[in-house]
Amino acid sequence: MPWSLEICHIGLLGTGDATLIVATFQDGDEEVLKRSSVLIDGGRSEATGMVEEVLAVYGINDDAPLGAVAVTHYDADHFNGVRDLIRPPQKRRRTDMYRDVRVYDRGRTQNVTVPAQGTTSRSASIIANFRNPATKNESIIHPYSYMIKDNCERNLVTRDVLSSVNQLRITTNARFPFDDPRVTNAGIRPPYWLIGQEILWNGENLADFHPDHAPRLTCVSANTYYRTVNGGVDVVRSGGLSRERNENINSLGFLLTFGNFRYFVGGDMESAQEDALLPYFRSLRNGNGPLLHAMKASHHGSNLSSSPNFLKTVKPNVVIFSCGQNNQFPHPEERVISSLHQYTPETKYYNTGENWRIDSEFGIPNISGVYPRNKDGSLIIDHQVNYHSHVKIFIEQPDNDTPPQEFSVNFYCPEAGPNLNHDANHDYVPARLRADYFTI
Ligand SMILES: [Zn+2]
Repeated sequence: MPWSLEICHIGLLGTGDATLIVATFQDGDEEVLKRSSVLIDGGRSEATGMVEEVLAVYGINDDAPLGAVAVTHYDADHFNGVRDLIRPPQKRRRTDMYRDVRVYDRGRTQNVTVPAQGTTSRSASIIANFRNPATKNESIIHPYSYMIKDNCERNLVTRDVLSSVNQLRITTNARFPFDDPRVTNAGIRPPYWLIGQEILWNGENLADFHPDHAPRLTCVSANTYYRTVNGGVDVVRSGGLSRERNENINSLGFLLTFGNFRYFVGGDMESAQEDALLPYFRSLRNGNGPLLHAMKASHHGSNLSSSPNFLKTVKPNVVIFSCGQNNQFPHPEERVISSLHQYTPETKYYNTGENWRIDSEFGIPNISGVYPRNKDGSLIIDHQVNYHSHVKIFIEQPDNDTPPQEFSVNFYCPEAGPNLNHDANHDYVPARLRADYFTI
């Protein structure tokens, strides 16, 4: 088995995203010769234990540390867990396996005053201010920024990226104001800086490991900018949104490729940004296969994402909803499920928050926000059940010269089948592992 790839959508308690991607190259004796791993988002703080449990299962530890972590955006259910993972060992007592992890995020959001053209006297202080994470404008990400600064500052790849065009206090009508020499001369990287960059290997030389076939994870959108067909970037802006939505539309998005297999993960991105990526996805397709074989539904299946147009154009084989056990939101939302049924009836979809597959075979699943509760009304939190709610995708090459021909989705489901309406009296039955197979 030469190259293989696993994508684990980690089952969390409550809402949140945490997706582990592991690419491995083995020789004929199945000895691991090359490996890299990227964690995309880390759920909420409470998710840390579960994330570390999964990392351990994949053999990621002090001797084989995590390669990179990507924070798609600054919502608590995505980046708080990352913050807590990378706490220094004296505070977290267990490991320093994140000491050298490369950290990618969407960049800094604080106010930056760029000097008037032709002046350089203030440049130094501007850069210093830009790199100082503690301003009241980013109080939400303040603890995260400090944790990075204390531990991974030198590995924060996106340290000099300024993410918010609105904070840029220059007068210009340019579509790409960050190309202004007043900005570039100040050493500030634009919000689209990460787009087009591969983060699984980060330029590492894979010459000894059949590099043409190696899985690759490439940033395709950031801060409302997105990758275009010709390898450039363009921007979709949405005005007048709430703070939450404004954060979501800035999510980083990544395309994972392995041979002809294509997978998309985009944080809590909304439809405007997703739809803008369609021409790029279309340009990658050869043959009649789907634009994407698998995708994590953005924003946990919210109907602000995964538009009917997006789904019917992409026609994914597989959609994963990262909703988490006992999710406090009614995710995935009915409109998204209905769109899947209506426009892509062949698509199979899975939910990290449920122990069973939900698909057309079972009808509309529990999407009403009714979740199992104790008699006193508190949510039932069952770690044993939660542990079994990861949804994993597995792919491997049949041999060194052949790209992967199929992928599988591994998940747990109860023997009982379609008891899709939770209620306080429902008894969980032992879950069992199942796998569905898809041709690439
Ligand atoms: Zn979220």
